[in-house]
Amino acid sequence: MRYIILFLSLFLVLNTTAQTDEEVIKNLYKTSLTNGNSYQWLDHLSNQIGGRLSGSLNAEKAVEYTKEELEKLGLDKVWLQPVMVPKWVRGAPEFAFIESAFGATTNVNICALGGSIATPFGGIKAHLVEVKSMDELEALGKENIEGKIVFFNKPMQADLIQTFEAYGGCVNQRYSGAMEAAKYGAVGVLVRSLSLRQDNFPHTGSMTYGNLPLSKRIPSAAISTNDANTLSSMLALNKDIKFYFSQTCKQLNDVQSYNVIGEIKGSQFPNEYIVVGGHLDSWDLGDGAHDDGAGVVQSMEVLRLFKETGIKPKRSIRVVLFMNEENGLRGATKYAEVAKQKGETHIFSLESDAGGFTPRGFSFDCNDANFNQVLGWKELFNPYLIHYFEKGGSGADVGPLKTDTNVLAGLRPDSQRYFDYHHAANDTFDAVNKRELELGAATMASLVYLFDAYGLAN
Ligand SMILES: [Zn+2]
Repeated sequence: MRYIILFLSLFLVLNTTAQTDEEVIKNLYKTSLTNGNSYQWLDHLSNQIGGRLSGSLNAEKAVEYTKEELEKLGLDKVWLQPVMVPKWVRGAPEFAFIESAFGATTNVNICALGGSIATPFGGIKAHLVEVKSMDELEALGKENIEGKIVFFNKPMQADLIQTFEAYGGCVNQRYSGAMEAAKYGAVGVLVRSLSLRQDNFPHTGSMTYGNLPLSKRIPSAAISTNDANTLSSMLALNKDIKFYFSQTCKQLNDVQSYNVIGEIKGSQFPNEYIVVGGHLDSWDLGDGAHDDGAGVVQSMEVLRLFKETGIKPKRSIRVVLFMNEENGLRGATKYAEVAKQKGETHIFSLESDAGGFTPRGFSFDCNDANFNQVLGWKELFNPYLIHYFEKGGSGADVGPLKTDTNVLAGLRPDSQRYFDYHHAANDTFDAVNKRELELGAATMASLVYLFDAYGLAN
């Protein structure tokens, strides 16, 4: 009997080690699609908690919830990493209209940009000047801008296949529009929503005043793409129309919050770390289901899939749910700072922060040796229609972990619909497809498995 047991266990050991990469990956996809938990977690985050702006009660609830859920997975360690975060509050709903003649008004949909100041009590009403670039703003100069509301109306470029590129081409008007316009004496800023779709949703997002003193700051808001077109065509007919808006948002003092971290300790190289993560905070208008609830639950799912399929990693695998990506990046900064203090070697860090859509592949920030190793794994992903392996950016939260020798990566889902929802009230649970979300989690788990199995190339 003893011999039979010995033989059986030997067989089991040999059998496990004999599992090919193809088989491991197939099992990860199968488990994610047939016995996954990412969608249930997202349901709770979106529908039971909702928008999770840094410093809000919902953000606190999300910290508690994800910590409790990670504790159920039987990881080696789950903990909260304290970090101070900014707290900006939207206040009462914003209100805006176009006034084409005295008493003739058209209501439009706006929302304050994150970090903006409020309008003065009673709102602002002023003439407008429409621009499509910072150069145009500069050319117009103080004589044409002073006392007016600057309307930044550069649309995202529709013929760019990577919509993040189109976003990148326009985001400066949202981020620094108010700071730039204030230099020429503008009284407010209105920014066309960064979306490729024509609809009535205004899209918020972060903005900055740079070093502008408090007295020089002006309120800034986003306007929906439909209303931006209406406003632009009305301006083309009549330069004398006026715009009114009021918002009561406010920047409060920083508050205590946390990154949520879970870890499976590596069996052979416990001091080599692999991070998989997303950001736990979101904007407040929707539920933050795509941005970045999807990335949060997919990252949690990676560790759950390892447990579920019996993968015992050689290296230490961490899930990190970063706080405050949207308006400060404090969580990511803190995580990297602590990792450096402790002398932790992070060999590979993967972020999912581009929506819960059908995964296409990854973009990598690494040297050629490591990139070539990744290209050697490419065909393992063919059965899952994962074809995109390119050098490029990774993710805002993993960025601070960059070294000369490690690998940073970002999951790249199909991006065509991402900006329909990004930072807007329609970023809700129903906009996320269960299978697409699960495929993303399995794709991430597969790449994490390969980096754990083979380590860095150099
Ligand atoms: Zn995000």
